[in-house]
Amino acid sequence: MTEHTAVNSIRKIVIAGGGTSGWLAAAAIAKVLGKNLDITLIESPEIGRIGVGEATIPTLRVFHKLLGINDMELMANVQGTFKLGIEFSNWANKGDKYFHSFGLTGKECWACQFQHFWMAGKKYGINIPFGDYCPESKAARLEKCSGENDGVNYAYHFDANLYADYLKAFSVKLGVKQIEGFIERVNVSPENGYIDSLLLKDGQTIAGDLFLDCTGFKAMLIDGALNTPYVPYSHYLPCDSAIALQTENVHSPRPYTQSIAHDFGWQWRIPLQHRAGNGLVFSSRHVSDDEAINTLMSNLEGRPVTEPRVIKYKTGRRIKAWNKNCIAVGLASGFLEPLESTSIHLAMSTIYRLLRYFPQHEISMSNVDEFNRQSSEEMDRARNFVILHYHATQREDTEFWRYCKNMEIPEILARRIKLFKDTGTIMLEDKELFLNDSWVQVMMGQGIMPAAYHPVVDMMEEKELKGFLAFLRDDVHKKVAAMPSHQELINKYCKAMPV
Ligand SMILES: Cc1cc2nc3c(=O)[nH]c(=O)nc-3n(C[C@H](O)[C@H](O)[C@H](O)COP(=O)(O)OP(=O)(O)OC[C@H]3O[C@@H](n4cnc5c(N)ncnc54)[C@H](O)[C@@H]3O)c2cc1C
Repeated sequence: MTEHTAVNSIRKIVIAGGGTSGWLAAAAIAKVLGKNLDITLIESPEIGRIGVGEATIPTLRVFHKLLGINDMELMANVQGTFKLGIEFSNWANKGDKYFHSFGLTGKECWACQFQHFWMAGKKYGINIPFGDYCPESKAARLEKCSGENDGVNYAYHFDANLYADYLKAFSVKLGVKQIEGFIERVNVSPENGYIDSLLLKDGQTIAGDLFLDCTGFKAMLIDGALNTPYVPYSHYLPCDSAIALQTENVHSPRPYTQSIAHDFGWQWRIPLQHRAGNGLVFSSRHVSDDEAINTLMSNLEGRPVTEPRVIKYKTGRRIKAWNKNCIAVGLASGFLEPLESTSIHLAMSTIYRLLRYFPQHEISMSNVDEFNRQSSEEMDRARNFVILHYHATQREDTEFWRYCKNMEIPEILARRIKLFKDTGTIMLEDKELFLNDSWVQVMMGQGIMPAAYHPVVDMMEEKELKGFLAFLRDDVHKKVAAMPSHQELINKYCKAMPV
């Protein structure tokens, strides 16, 4: 089996694609296992990167810790700003707003979560917004922010290209070899269907033992060569197109992403230090590209600095993220639209999983099956949270929203909504990405209010409950009052060089 030392001894890792996913994978594998591996990454300047993917969730900070990347140094290099959550406008009804923050809200007890105490407070006339019990939520509204030392749970907004470049420099320092070239063909062994090598346009052949497909939507290896089937999510997530565009800043950067629903999709605004990222996600069944572009152009805050770019996509996932000796990471493995900024997280999580299940001498099917089971489950669960936003609307003003409101949803999601409506409780499975407070904020934000709260709360007398809620609120108030403005925080810790 000379040509299949490939499956007997895993030494040579070939990463196809140098977008965020490719370079994240290169950096992590080099850092954790690099001493014993030979890692090569191939990217094509001709094709370039997708260039969107600028809002993240806090888990990426933990990943950076694993790599030994300093947060503030990174942010200064990628025109980064702090993100405390997402402001959703027009989602439940036109004209409404709610905030999904990354912070913890209030305090829970062993029997029930904080929302039960908050609901009980209403009985005594306490109508303080749920978000006032969460420092991140309140700080975001006041455009204030603070760092990790103050216990603030933040994520980043960053320039996608600068971020990939930063990871590239980091990886190359750790010994990753970078090749600029166009992959023309994937050579697959006729014997066992494993990938042997990649043929580049300039004639080079790059052989490997394990191949990572990070070629974005092209999915050249996992799909093009291995024909791994795709499980579509389009029934639940009808949007299949996006327009991306950059604008000048007209406002000091807000410490949150904005998501503004329109008649046939929604618009994002991502504030960076030097510019803002903007886009519109829409359903091509319900609107033409031209009309979507017009909608975006007439809802911009600043002057455009790039032309609008249309991106077509299919939401869904590979049936197997790992097939033969190929692991798909990032867009090549599947795509959930960016509503909750989950894509970079999912790429990162795939990389963690690969590091945990990294084959040593040969690829064992039990390893691959477990990897695939976890990957699929993770993606489906994140998908369910995104579906919630579309489905739990009260809008019926357009065909798009009527479809979303009335569409069939996964059974587990329907059960979760019903349980919350009936009892105020969120049922979570093991290892979910979005936890109680995320679900509660989105459900209540979109108008799903529970009919009851947990009886344990009534063990508190009125005075005691009022005192408990007032204490929590005052604590949040004090924390937020002590925070600098978001701009002051950036200026102090991570101001980028002007471009
Ligand atoms: C509209 C939209 C908005 C998004 N917003 C967010 C967000 O806010 N947050 C988030 O987490 N994610 C977001 N994403 C997802 C995000 O873009 C990706 O997770 C991230 O950019 C990683 O992409 P990638 O590296 O998988 O692919 P890409 O950036 O497309 O990289 C593909 C790489 O493969 C290379 N390549 C392709 N074909 C060849 C070939 N034949 N030969 C050699 N090289 C090749 C390219 O040159 C490139 O280097 C968004 C995606 C879309 C579509």
